[in-house]
Amino acid sequence: MAKIFCVANQKGGVGKTTTAVNLAAGLAQLNQRVLLADLDPQGNATMGAGINKGALTASIYEVLLGMSDIKAVRKTSETGGFDVLPANRELAGAEVEMVELENREKRLKDAFASIADEYDFILIDCPPALSMLTLNGLCAANGVIIPMQCEYYALEGLSDLVNTIKKVHANLNPDLKIIGLLRVMFDPRMTLSQQVSEELEKHFGDKVFKTVIPRNVRLAEAPSYGMPGVSFDAASKGAQAYIAFGAEMVERIKTM
Ligand code: ADP
Ligand code: MG
Repeated sequence: MAKIFCVANQKGGVGKTTTAVNLAAGLAQLNQRVLLADLDPQGNATMGAGINKGALTASIYEVLLGMSDIKAVRKTSETGGFDVLPANRELAGAEVEMVELENREKRLKDAFASIADEYDFILIDCPPALSMLTLNGLCAANGVIIPMQCEYYALEGLSDLVNTIKKVHANLNPDLKIIGLLRVMFDPRMTLSQQVSEELEKHFGDKVFKTVIPRNVRLAEAPSYGMPGVSFDAASKGAQAYIAFGAEMVERIKTM
């Protein structure tokens, strides 16, 4: 049965999608069966996995609204070696339309039930908001991976996310926990990066993943080729870090 993880942080541009796509590809390289669910109407994870969001006949939107079966909607990322539940901007409408529905926070969870035994990991790329879509991600997941840049404002807003996770844990999904904070876009030459990184370790202890993702231009270039960085340039420092993170996650789920 798959372990399900949200990649979440309500800030934009912090590396959620890069993490979701490259962790998926890194896990695939480690022979894990992976489904990447794109829960952001921007569809960046879809495109980054090499699937044209403009040419979809159905997307995660139809799955959430009960209009399509998840098995009919999922695609395969040829460049990444994992399956994708794709999204495009149609999904923005789901936010409002789901309000009317029964069990509206658990639509994604219910949809995963029929396919969870086909995967080792299901990763959910969340949008940059604590919205109904993110809530669906949190209700479906066993854990949350929080990517963070080691900069001065990194911790700002983290308490809102942590409080939301606590509320979901208390009221909707007792299974949910924070798996860890992932340091991304790390620049070892910057003293501030080092300092913030040490602060994170001091405050959050073993909730901080051992793997650190460096700032690496190959990771940023890869999406324009429709490829995860891990496949685009497997030897790059960024790719190697995400494969190491995949290995850390494989170890981590053994104790879950
Ligand atoms: P989010 O999904 O949180 O909005 P993204 O993953 O889209 O964030 O990343 C924001 C930008 O930063 C993108 O242009 C992406 O290519 C770039 N980026 C993310 N991680 C790295 C990294 N480790 N090194 C270099 N660029 C990165
Ligand atoms: Mg994103």
